[in-house]
Amino acid sequence: MIDLNGFRRRQTHSVRIGRYIIGGQAPVAVQSMTNTPTADIEASVAQSERIADAGAPIVRLTAQGRKEGEALAGIMASLRADGYPTAVVADIHFTPEVAFMAAESVDKVRINPGNFRTDAGELERLIEICRRRGVALRIGVNHGSLARRIVDQWGDTPEGMVASAMEFLRRCRELDFDQVVVSMKSSNTRVMVHAYRLLVEAMEREGMTYPVHLGVTEAGDGREGRIKSAVGIGALLADGIGDTIRVSLTEDPEREVPVARRLVEYFARREGRFEVHHAERYSPTEYRRRSSIDIPVTHDEIDNRFTVVDAVSGNPTAEWRAAILDMEGNAPVAIRRRYDGSDADDIALCAAADMGQLLLDGLADGVWIDAPDVDPATVRDIELMILQASRVRFSRTEYIACPSCGRTLYDIQSTLAEIKARTSHLPNLKIGVMGCIVNGPGEMADADYGYVGAAPGCITLYRGRQIVERNISQSEALDRLVTLIKADGRWSEPAAESGK
Ligand code: SF4
Repeated sequence: MIDLNGFRRRQTHSVRIGRYIIGGQAPVAVQSMTNTPTADIEASVAQSERIADAGAPIVRLTAQGRKEGEALAGIMASLRADGYPTAVVADIHFTPEVAFMAAESVDKVRINPGNFRTDAGELERLIEICRRRGVALRIGVNHGSLARRIVDQWGDTPEGMVASAMEFLRRCRELDFDQVVVSMKSSNTRVMVHAYRLLVEAMEREGMTYPVHLGVTEAGDGREGRIKSAVGIGALLADGIGDTIRVSLTEDPEREVPVARRLVEYFARREGRFEVHHAERYSPTEYRRRSSIDIPVTHDEIDNRFTVVDAVSGNPTAEWRAAILDMEGNAPVAIRRRYDGSDADDIALCAAADMGQLLLDGLADGVWIDAPDVDPATVRDIELMILQASRVRFSRTEYIACPSCGRTLYDIQSTLAEIKARTSHLPNLKIGVMGCIVNGPGEMADADYGYVGAAPGCITLYRGRQIVERNISQSEALDRLVTLIKADGRWSEPAAESGK
């Protein structure tokens, strides 16, 4: 473990991304991703500069085809001409040729092992270019877009995600190329945290020290999106895992940056020792609470059956954890901490980062945010959002909404707002709102319904993984989604409309 201003984290080696270093002794780096069409150089440069001005030294742009791959050189040149040293990352999903082209101009290339091959010389050729130009590589595994042969062997599971990443990491090591960062993203915080912990274990077994990039995909927007990101990223930072992070929000990308910076700053101030909690002990399949409480509770639902465990130190996650693991018996446990100030969004972010790990690991049955300067209804709402983001209590509609990128086929922010306005009164429903048909269906994970961009102005609707309406006009798509939910008997009228 290394000590960074009191924040101890897993030892990794340094990877250079342009002018910046990830891993090693470097602080946790913040990054974001553009959602402009990458081929629109002017718009992409302007947005990259807004992201940099917000405080992110690294920006990623999607490069889905030759047109976008070619634009990257112009984007790099314009950024430098404008005096921005921003490190630029090309995001490749399907076309190795575009990866080779991008590696000739950018600082880092992200490939998805689900769509790249280790056995056809593709990775070798890419590494050759990266080595020659001093370009880094990210092996970016996403739950929902694993290679068919991996799914056949492992299923679409954290174990499959790790198998996929390790295959690529071993090949990188054979090729003596260590400028590699690795990620294991999912929109499901439990899958995500488990996958990263398993990955760290696998790397430790094989003596690998590659830096790790953290992110919760499709977290959505607003306070909910921030809480979901903080639960997943915070649980891992509290473990001492993570060298760079992205908070993915369905908002303008520059709005992601202050959230990510706040999380990094929050953990950088922590005292004490962080330990990597090994995945085998906290497998989601062995998930269990230590009591008979069926539904984890908010502060106003805690009764005299509960033992309330306070955290007063600068490292609340570790403090609660040690106290609960020391307890005998199986009395329900609620975790409580005081949060000063009246900024409800900041308290929500910090409490989610503190408490998520205990909920994901099945160690707590209730949460109590002691925030005397925030009104109790807001506090309860935040507590419910933390329980939902930790997947232990579902009290509201869950939106698995992609952050959008250069592939997005419609205005996802306003569409998400319209979908929420019609459906947010439906608890226990998960709705995927995804910008493109290429990655959307796989990455909306376990959504009950999916609203997916199929072509400009066209939407395809899904029930689970099945297409139910293909290429319908976007102007009708929301009505058709509501009709579908009604036909499935999963609709109820909002309280005001039904007169309740
Ligand atoms: S689902 Fe498609 S549009 Fe949305 S972020 Fe992923 S690749 Fe981009």
